[in-house]
Formats: sequence, structure tokens, C-alpha cells
Amino acid sequence: MTTPRIVVLGAGYAGMMTTKRLTQQFAPEEAEITLVNKHNYHYQTTWLHEVAAGTIDVNRSRIMITDVINPRRVNIVHDSVVKIHPDDKQVELSNSMLEYDYLVIGLGFEKATFGIQGMEEHAFSIQSVDKSRMIRDHIEYQFSRYKTEENPSDDLLTIIVGGAGFTGIEFVGELAERIPQLCKKYDIPRNRVKIINIEAAETVLPGFDEELIAYAVHSLTDRGIDIRTKTMIKEVKKDAVIVGEEKEEIKAGTIVWTGGVQANRIVGESGFELTKGKVNVDSTLRAPNYDNVFILGDCAWVMNKETGRPYPPTAQIAIQEADVCAHNIRTLVFGGTLREFKFDNKGTVASLGGSEAMGTIFDGHKLYGLQAKMMKNVIDDRYLFMLGGPSLVLKKGKFRPF
Ligand code: FAD
Ligand code: NAD
Repeated sequence: MTTPRIVVLGAGYAGMMTTKRLTQQFAPEEAEITLVNKHNYHYQTTWLHEVAAGTIDVNRSRIMITDVINPRRVNIVHDSVVKIHPDDKQVELSNSMLEYDYLVIGLGFEKATFGIQGMEEHAFSIQSVDKSRMIRDHIEYQFSRYKTEENPSDDLLTIIVGGAGFTGIEFVGELAERIPQLCKKYDIPRNRVKIINIEAAETVLPGFDEELIAYAVHSLTDRGIDIRTKTMIKEVKKDAVIVGEEKEEIKAGTIVWTGGVQANRIVGESGFELTKGKVNVDSTLRAPNYDNVFILGDCAWVMNKETGRPYPPTAQIAIQEADVCAHNIRTLVFGGTLREFKFDNKGTVASLGGSEAMGTIFDGHKLYGLQAKMMKNVIDDRYLFMLGGPSLVLKKGKFRPF
């Protein structure tokens, strides 16, 4: 038997954990494992709202891939995927072609703009380390402009966040902490700065626990966030958003879109069939019509058989999928029974900035404030432990509640 070639695309939660598990499932001589990523680092997507607000340093969210994946076991390719050719079992990179026997796609998400006019061109998105850093720098640039321009408009200091799902809520929570620091640095009264979170649905975090929603809204409005629900963004201009049936125009110096995500566009462009922006994989996590291609994380929908609806795309699921994916690739190589993915929901905890957070754990037990914040840190540190053991926790972990 020739050595099977396993190629993993993307070093996010799904890609990193799958690669790690593959090195445990296969002895070095049993498989040739390749991990492709556009950066030489892995980043904590779940911390990007903090990078975007400027409440943590960019480097805190980055982990060098070679710090956690042994380059003697895994061929680490620092390059960008351009297109996948599943019928030819090839992946086109910017600088070369790769051939595979088994493929794992973990290329993550990109913003879904739902065709809203001007969104693509004029709104920032919390999508990668580089894009998040740009938001941080842009906000600070607007403060700087405000101090140097003659007769500056207060609109420069208005930040609009479109969408109040978990990303939007977590981001405005960080802004509530960061803006007072910037006001101090630039000597600008806090009341000149507006942070407006615009949500189309009846409430923020639609579908989430009502008490926790109420807690989050209270915590955020108390710290100066203007939350506008039942308000749909219809259009985005260079310096304004247009909302509602009345087409109200709200001017802003910074516009950030957190209104939804879809699979990395490479997946659709490579011919995989998309349903609402992602690929419906089977219960073994494989793509329709391609038994040797696994699609994980934010590129895929996995059906919850109990509700008949797909699980929401989260890091928690991406990490759990890695175990099943690595097991199933071994099974395809050596025989045995394929495992079906079953989501073990450990809860949802969201940070609201500083020492504020809220969420549910395990069986729906609710947590608020400092207790929730500590739990959020435990969740983050647990992932670091799974990925890189105690040394990574010591290097990058979160120990203080804020
Ligand atoms: P990603 O983590 O996005 O990784 C994709 C990887 O692919 C990246 O390393 C990227 O560089 C690489 N890549 C992309 N394109 C290419 C290319 N062309 N070539 C090569 N490499 C490429 N979920 C939770 O469970 N808990 C949370 O608390 C939580 N908080 C969040 C906070 C924020 C601000 C956001 C935005 C999301 C949050 N999520 C959270 C959701 C979670 O981050 C995603 O579900 C998760 O990142 C999906 O993992 P992934 O491996 O599919 O993709
Ligand atoms: P989302 O799709 O969950 O939320 C987007 C929000 O934008 C929705 O509330 C939607 O009603 C609103 N929206 C859409 N179009 C709009 C419009 N035109 N005008 C105004 N509002 C509009 O997206 P997300 O918040 O980026 O989350 C993506 C995934 O990541 C989810 O699965 C989420 O659970 C997960 N996530 C989890 C956490 C956590 O667990 N702490 C944090 C962040 C993200």
C-alpha cells in the first residue's frame, strides 16, 4: 500500500485540531500529513473582537503553528489556497499544486453581506487578525483626525456595529471598555462618542435565553452602548448607514458589519454545492459526492437530527469535529466503522467587555458577571491546553477576570 497523502486546508480551530489528532491517529510512516495555511500562525478567532477593539494586543491572539505542530511530523505549507479540484484530487495554491488522497477543508468563514448595497465596500468585518487590527487602527485614526481637523464633525467619533448576534454584542462590549481609554488619550469627552449597535430582529441575540439577553442589554446600555433593535440596515455608504423602511441615514466614522457569516468563498468556487452559504455535510462530515473530502467548521452545516436544523457554526463544534474527522480518515485507510458526529453542547458564554459576561453551561445553568467571565477564561484556556498543553496556557492563557 502506498502511503496515503492527507491534506488539511486552513489552520483554524478545525484545521489545527484535526492535524493534531491525525498525528495521534497515524504513526509517522503510516501517512503523509500536510497542513496549508495562508499565515505561519494560527489565530484565536474567538478573540478577534478584542483585537478589533484594541483591548488585547494582536500578538496575544496569534500562535506560531510550529509552536504546537511538529514540522518533522507534518509538512507545513505557508501558502494561500486558490481553488480545490475535487475531481482531480488536487489543490491549487498561489505558488504550487498539491495532490491528495484525503482532504480536510477548514478554511473558515467570511462575512455574509446578503447583497446589502455598499456593505462589501464600506463596512469593516471582524474576520482575521489583519482585518481586526485595521478596525482598531481606523477607530484610533478617527480620534486622531477629530483632534487635528478644523471644525471636525462629531460623526467621526460615531461607531456603528451592524448586527447584534454574539459577535456584535461581544465587540460593542469591548468598545465600552476601550473608548474611555481612547477619550483619555485624545482628550475627548466620552459623551461625544456614540457606539450604536443595530439589529434587525426584535431583540439582540435572537433565540437566546431571555434573562441573559436582558442582562446583556442592561450591562451594555449602562456603559453607553446605544442598542437599536427592529432596525434593519438597508444600505451602507462611505460614511453612513441607511436603516428601516423610512430610510433613515445615520452618519458614522466607523462601520463594522457583524450581521452574518458564510463559508470561505473558495468552497463554492471549487464546485461544492452550497446551502445558505455552506456545504451540508453528512453525519461522518464528508462532502456530498466526495467520500474522501471532509468539510469542517464554518465551511459546513452539520444537521442536528433532533431539531432537524443545523448546529450554529462555532469554535466549540469545529474542535469536536476534528476528533471524528481524524478517526474517520484512519478508518478509510485501514478499515473499520466510520463514526457519526454528535455535538456535545457544553454551553455558550459571551464576554461583554471588562469583567462582564453571561451565558449558559452544560444543562442550561446560567452564569452572569464575574462568574461568567471566569468561565469564559476557563473555556479559552481549555482550548489552549488541548492544542499546546500547559506551556501554551502559560504563554497565552487568560488568568485574570479582566
Ligand atoms: P477559522 O477559525 O476561521 O480558521 C480558518 C483558517 O483558514 C484561518 O487560519 C485562515 O487564516 C485560514 N485560511 C482562510 N483562507 C485561506 C486560504 N485561502 N488559504 C489558506 N488558509 C486560509 N465560537 C465559539 O464556540 N465560542 C466563542 O466564544 C466564539 N467567539 C467568537 C468571537 C468572534 C469575534 C467571532 C468572529 C467568532 C466567534 N466564534 C466563537 C465562532 C468561531 O470563531 C468560529 O466558528 C470558528 O473560528 C470556526 O473555526 P474554523 O476552523 O472553521 O475557521
Ligand atoms: P449571527 O448570524 O449569529 O448574527 C448576526 C446578527 O445580525 C443577527 O442577530 C441578525 O438578525 C442580524 N442582522 C442580519 N442582517 C441584518 C441587517 N440587515 N440589519 C441589522 N441586523 C442584521 O452572526 P455572528 O454574531 O457573527 O455569529 C456567527 C457564529 O459565531 C454564530 O454561530 C455564533 O453563535 C458564533 N459566535 C459565538 C460566540 C460565543 O459563543 N461567545 C461569539 C461570537 C460568535
